[in-house]
Amino acid sequence: NSDVPPPVGAAPRRQTRATVVRWGGHAVQVGGGAPVVVQSMTNTDTADAAATAAQVRALAQAGSELVRITVNTPEAARAVPAIRAQLDRMNVSVPLVGDFHYNGHKLLGQFPECAQTLSKYRINPGNMGGGKKRDDNFAQMIEVACRHDKPIRIGVNWGSLDHELLARMMDDNARRAQPWEAQAVMRDALVISAISNARRAEELGLNPNAIVLSCKVSHVQDLITVYRDLSARCDYPLHLGLTEAGMGSKGIVASTAALAVLLQQGIGDTIRISLTPEPGGDRRREVVVAQEILQTMGLRAFTPMVVACPGCGRTSSTVFQELANDIQAYLREQMPLWKTRYPGVENMNVAVMGCVVNGPGESRHADIGISLPGTGEVPSAPVYIDGERTITLKGDNIAVEFQAIVENYVQR
Ligand code: SF4
Repeated sequence: NSDVPPPVGAAPRRQTRATVVRWGGHAVQVGGGAPVVVQSMTNTDTADAAATAAQVRALAQAGSELVRITVNTPEAARAVPAIRAQLDRMNVSVPLVGDFHYNGHKLLGQFPECAQTLSKYRINPGNMGGGKKRDDNFAQMIEVACRHDKPIRIGVNWGSLDHELLARMMDDNARRAQPWEAQAVMRDALVISAISNARRAEELGLNPNAIVLSCKVSHVQDLITVYRDLSARCDYPLHLGLTEAGMGSKGIVASTAALAVLLQQGIGDTIRISLTPEPGGDRRREVVVAQEILQTMGLRAFTPMVVACPGCGRTSSTVFQELANDIQAYLREQMPLWKTRYPGVENMNVAVMGCVVNGPGESRHADIGISLPGTGEVPSAPVYIDGERTITLKGDNIAVEFQAIVENYVQR
């Protein structure tokens, strides 16, 4: 949808090459003006094909358009075709991306069925040994990618940056009249590592349209600086993500702060939110957060959004908070079915407000809204549809009745 204008205030999307990631007849385009792709990564043992297939399916159903799985051992490589077969039986067509470190050249060479089944390879040039060995290992992986016609992501990471390159650049920097700070040299080394390895892949015969780049770091300002530089120096599609973003609200806030700045500047073609799962936490959370970043910025729409006030001393009961949570959860749950039946439903806005101060105004602005009674107000909740006040709900069943009104509105 390259003709879709950027949201008001956002820069036009940066022009990049288009990389297409395929499985069967299903294709996901990254870059080239395509909508920003949401991706995620499993945390199961890939050798456990059943558990991994189940998690891939859950992530895909939550909206992950690409799913990455670690391929770190012969057992994991052997399991990849079985995972794919289970997904195909479940009609889950999401492309699988193999994440390789240290031994990817061996695994891709020894397990051709794994190489063929994966839709894309993630290669970290900082984790391939040093000197000639690194060059040979990298060349072997590119040769496999060419033979199987697979795109790759060259994923450089702050925590595993090419030591030889960094040492060389630090030496050069020390000889400058005005040396940069070490952090600036590291940022530059990340960008140079990504671009030089991409050029090398092209020299080895890989189609330039089969290359995505990433340079992940764990600090917000470093990430923004690195990606601005990277996007200015090349036209490969870029995978954005703040690595090791952390747990809970810290991980969400840090990822959002970094990615929002870049996306606003038109930088970024696919995103992953790397959240450390809390004990018993749901891996799908990273998909939801990625979608919410894109949707709240007006870059894509995935599910109807609920506008809810924060509540305050005028909030008369917990009905309002419960209703806001329940209706958002309900809308999200319905989306797999609704998006096939009611095209455009993802653009709908729902307001759930706590009192008369802003309730009627926000509810009128939404497609459908409800203004619950605050302290001292008449215990009734007017519902607004397409800007007009309609029915007024009362009693203990407001939540159930409002959900039915929303469903009826969607069907209409
Ligand atoms: Fe408080 Fe009412 Fe504003 Fe909600 S709409 S935050 S309840 S004043």
